[in-house]
Amino acid sequence: MVKLLSIICCFIIAFTINGKHDFSYFTLKNGLKVVCIKKRVIPIVAVSVWYNCGSKCDATGKSGVAHFLEHMAFHSNSMTFNNFLEEIGAENNASTSLGYICFYEIVPKESMEEILKYESARMRSLGIDSQVFTSEKKAILEERSIVYDANPIMSAKESVNANIFNGMPGGISIVGWKHEIESIQQQDLFDFHNKWFAPNNAVLLLVGDVDPHHVKPLVEKYFGGLKEKNLPTMRTQNNVHPSVIKTITHKFSEANCFITRYIYKVPFFAKDNFRKYISLSLAIQAMNQPEFFMAKVIKSATNSLNDIWFSYASGAAYDIVMVNLIGISRDEMDDMEKLWHCFKQKLLSDSILTNDEINAIKRQNFISMAYEDDDIMVTAQYVGSSLMAGHPLEKIMATDEIIQAITLQECNSTISEIFQREPIAVSRLEKQEHDNE
Ligand SMILES: [Zn+2]
Repeated sequence: MVKLLSIICCFIIAFTINGKHDFSYFTLKNGLKVVCIKKRVIPIVAVSVWYNCGSKCDATGKSGVAHFLEHMAFHSNSMTFNNFLEEIGAENNASTSLGYICFYEIVPKESMEEILKYESARMRSLGIDSQVFTSEKKAILEERSIVYDANPIMSAKESVNANIFNGMPGGISIVGWKHEIESIQQQDLFDFHNKWFAPNNAVLLLVGDVDPHHVKPLVEKYFGGLKEKNLPTMRTQNNVHPSVIKTITHKFSEANCFITRYIYKVPFFAKDNFRKYISLSLAIQAMNQPEFFMAKVIKSATNSLNDIWFSYASGAAYDIVMVNLIGISRDEMDDMEKLWHCFKQKLLSDSILTNDEINAIKRQNFISMAYEDDDIMVTAQYVGSSLMAGHPLEKIMATDEIIQAITLQECNSTISEIFQREPIAVSRLEKQEHDNE
């Protein structure tokens, strides 16, 4: 069976923790954090291991190593293990983002022990078969050309990030630049694994029909013997606050529209101020509601734009957090600047969003969260990626209560704080005109 491994550039606002949750956590002596979230809908468990080392850990000139390692560690499954997974009807996959590498299996609860055994082996060592290495390199180059090179939006995003962050974490291509993927050697993957795959750099997250009393001795048995490592210091990005706003134009022959993005840097409050992070997420959701006042005012500033929206890419990669105001048009982008000025004007008024609007967004979240709550993998994805972004577990597990407690004033002042600064860059995606022969 061919697996399509995924690359995650950012996670879109999607909360999923609802109601009072039965959860517990403990840390092994070697630093491995273990989180159990009990949900007894059906007797299955989502086992996921999150390594705090995404492409932000790729060295300069070695982009794509984290992602390549994810492929190799995933494919180093022995045939026996693959057959076992198939036999028990497991679902499994892996992903790499700027902030993390994650592996997961969804299995019947009685098979959990076998999975823990396997995941501990993946943490301990990396096996590379030369033939698989060569074929995976080809597959990754193919992935690069499909996901980025042939996709104007992704390719523009990648080059804008590279331009703003200039070789620092955040500017690194997750899948890797083509010439750098080509130069990756097996030793680069061993080095990355040796440095970053350590119990004290990982979270083992178990969601579903799990009993922590049963889990603890099993985790001790399989992971307890792994040695803690001295982790390298993470590189941090330079302070991105250019005095002149950079306009980055990306011309693409396949583009069938014009896209302009005003890119704002969000202060790094995600880590120490979860409530502020939630208030910004709610406010962005509200500003994107076409029937709400803010969206109407912005839209009325121009009639040449086909669509306008805000995005909040809280990449689970420490301080790489941005908010975008995006406009898309089939014909021209002249009105985008008019729209931006209108938006800035609107920010000066004291009623950016109204109480009714924020309450409506809270109700929407309440319903969608209740709906998603039974999905153990959605929960694992939300909790795991939030932990990797540095949010505290207790806060993550109280997401729904925090949403309900957020006030209108908090939402409005957070928006003002972010958008009254100048954007750090403006990105324009344009059609590359062809000369007629
Ligand atoms: Zn991949």
